[in-house]
Amino acid sequence: MRISQDKIVEIREANPIEEVIGNYIPLKKAGKNYKGLCPFHLEKAPSFIVSPEKGIYHCFGCGKSGNVFTFLMEYNNMSFYEAVRELGNRVGIRVEVVEDANKELYRANEFVASLYHSILLSESGTPGHEWLRKRGILDDTANKFMLGYAPEQPIIWNKAKTNGFKQKDFEVLGLLIGVRDAFRRKVIFPIRDRLGRVVGFGSRVLDDSEPKYINSKESLIFKKRRLLYGAYESRSELRKGATLVEGYMDLLSVYQTETKNVVASLGTSFAQEQARYLKGYTKSVIIAYDGDDAGHKATERAIDILLEEGFDVKVLRFPDGDDPDSWVKKHEKLDLSEAQSFMEFKFKECSDITEKETLIREFQETLSKIADPLKKELWADEISKKLEIRKEFLVIEKVVPKRNRVAENKKLEDLEAELLGIAATYPKVREFLIKEKFEVLTEELKTSLALVLQGEASPEVLSSISSEKLRERFTDVLFREDTDYEKLGKDYLNRIRAERTKIERKGLSSEKINKGESEILRKFQDLKRQELFLRGG
Ligand SMILES: [Zn+2]
Repeated sequence: MRISQDKIVEIREANPIEEVIGNYIPLKKAGKNYKGLCPFHLEKAPSFIVSPEKGIYHCFGCGKSGNVFTFLMEYNNMSFYEAVRELGNRVGIRVEVVEDANKELYRANEFVASLYHSILLSESGTPGHEWLRKRGILDDTANKFMLGYAPEQPIIWNKAKTNGFKQKDFEVLGLLIGVRDAFRRKVIFPIRDRLGRVVGFGSRVLDDSEPKYINSKESLIFKKRRLLYGAYESRSELRKGATLVEGYMDLLSVYQTETKNVVASLGTSFAQEQARYLKGYTKSVIIAYDGDDAGHKATERAIDILLEEGFDVKVLRFPDGDDPDSWVKKHEKLDLSEAQSFMEFKFKECSDITEKETLIREFQETLSKIADPLKKELWADEISKKLEIRKEFLVIEKVVPKRNRVAENKKLEDLEAELLGIAATYPKVREFLIKEKFEVLTEELKTSLALVLQGEASPEVLSSISSEKLRERFTDVLFREDTDYEKLGKDYLNRIRAERTKIERKGLSSEKINKGESEILRKFQDLKRQELFLRGG
């Protein structure tokens, strides 16, 4: 979905940032700005600053920064579109949606999903249908999840070309290679997004050849890290908590039992984006990964990610060699009441001090992920009893480095993002940036630079930077009191030139210099002098 840029600016300007954020957390006036306790990290003294003048917020504790839209996106786990619509509603501005640029891709996916599904149900789908039956998948389940079969002979383009599709779209989606079908003799699992649109496909071979599972390739609309298989189909059941499994077949088998609140992490290891996806539905998860070593390790990672995102986490364990699919076949259902707390799962008997020390450090690490102070306190109590160790040794306050000083030896990219921040906010700085031949390194910052030079306001430029780290740099410098920003801008420019010179100097091979090639040596010394001069101001 796309919304016009004018509309976005209109909505942002109609929603003063201090009012919007003030609805969520208490803010106090402090000079031109507002201050409050940061909602994104745990703190006792406020280091979260909101600037009505600049239309942005920045936390000097954890570095989080952004505009009204990113605040809602982060705080409420919304998409950009949802945040714009919400703030539009707040001030009575209707958000009309510009034609979705990816509409044709969704249509192509939907077409292929129906095609494969109809084949599964027809005579030419018998091999796939038989395979699913043997694995205990009922026809109802196959229909509900729109499972399909990709036959041996090419089929997609033949059917699609008479339906007004573009071959290129299928290639982008990884469904066609030229006019040849990418999937052949495979069972097909369509993957849907939050809105129920088919965004990609999983596939499985019918025999034991490797790789068993292949997904269609990542595209503009298919990002595996942001999706959970089955989440759309089981969405109405997810409010009571989610059961997290590894694969397609685990999910389908479990869904056929009484446990309908099940999602699968698409074979990849569980990602933070997937946890955030789930947050829209529930705050509690039971991890039911495979009983082997890989499953065990994946469970440990998932625990940390889920705790960090504020979930209540339990683990259902299987004997080595079993997974939810095989378990359900033997025992008819998962016994979720057998799920252990994450503490029980991580605990092991220790035979010596070294082992115990390692275990305690692991628990320190895991506890540090829990943001909610009450939850952290309660778990620290439990764990200290279980490990027979004083609680002080479990909760280690991490010292977050202060960020309001410009450090030496910053990366070029950081310096550039900071200079862009200054330029977007102070027109004077923009003037000399335009005169400067300013070649930014990353593609990302090039787009942002173009916006800065067009005179876009800093909140808009901020939205164009997708790297969180660079967004932090962008706003970081803007909250220093009593700063001469024109001078600071010039300092930055000099430092960036010095960094460039240093990189160029390092590029001259030291070997050649050692050989005494006078030309290079002279150049090297020149650059060194230039660098020192620029650093000096
Ligand atoms: Zn913070």
